[in-house]
Amino acid sequence: MTRFGGIEAGGTKFVCGVGTGPADLEKIVFPTTTPTETAARAIEFFRNKGIEQLGIASFGPVDLNPSSPTFGYITSTPKAGWRNFDIVGTMKRALDVDAAFDTDVNGSALAEAQWGAARGLTDALYLTVGTGIGGGAIVGGKLVHGLRHPEMGHIRIPHDRDTDPFAGCCPFHEDCLEGLASGKAMEVRWGCIAENLDAGHRGWDLEARYLALGLMNWVCTLSPQRMIIGGGVVKNPRLLPMVRQQLEELLNGYVPAPDVVEPGLGDNAGVLGAIALAMDSVESPSRPLQIVAETP
Ligand code: ZN
Repeated sequence: MTRFGGIEAGGTKFVCGVGTGPADLEKIVFPTTTPTETAARAIEFFRNKGIEQLGIASFGPVDLNPSSPTFGYITSTPKAGWRNFDIVGTMKRALDVDAAFDTDVNGSALAEAQWGAARGLTDALYLTVGTGIGGGAIVGGKLVHGLRHPEMGHIRIPHDRDTDPFAGCCPFHEDCLEGLASGKAMEVRWGCIAENLDAGHRGWDLEARYLALGLMNWVCTLSPQRMIIGGGVVKNPRLLPMVRQQLEELLNGYVPAPDVVEPGLGDNAGVLGAIALAMDSVESPSRPLQIVAETP
């Protein structure tokens, strides 16, 4: 039986695991520091595990085009030191294995479809709301890629500056969804991290409104059967019921709102997603997860 390894490469932590699903997952978690130091810790974990196929689900933006000279790189991230880091090449060379590669959120969407809250569904969305905001989508049973990959955290949403004068914290767009509703946005706006913000604080109403505005766009464009929201910010149990209510109000009876639920795999969605990418690349080699772009 093939031994699979997976890396959830996040901006604040790395999760490395081996296994074939939630039942036999063995994992370690460590903080994301410099690329060299962080990659070395991952390599050390996998060194004697005998893995034959690796999956890497990474924060981004990433280059997913196998014919590009920078395939497998983390590209224009604002994260210090990580811009243009060849994460796939580094791991492949050190461990001498093939590696499947995708965004962290596409990985999580795949894992949730395989073992979690989107099991048995053909159309689902996975959104993470943590330090940043990112989304992955499965449409017609396939992960969405396109020209690069979706950047759902950076959609523009209505911003009423009378209600919320905060300009937004995205260095590229200021008041995109991530700029207004990420954990970082909440921290900068309210002066404390989301986890410490009182559960009854009006900041949560604003947060629910922004997330619902984002979700409405995907209901109307992708028609998901279920939407899964993970990440540190949704650990406030009041938030998802408020998001559901706001979404219903925004849709205004035009189309039914799909379920908005927490990840079925909890905090393991990311690393299991990386393993699912590795498994999928072996089991369905004729259906590569990455779209091979035609040379113009
Ligand atoms: Zn942005």
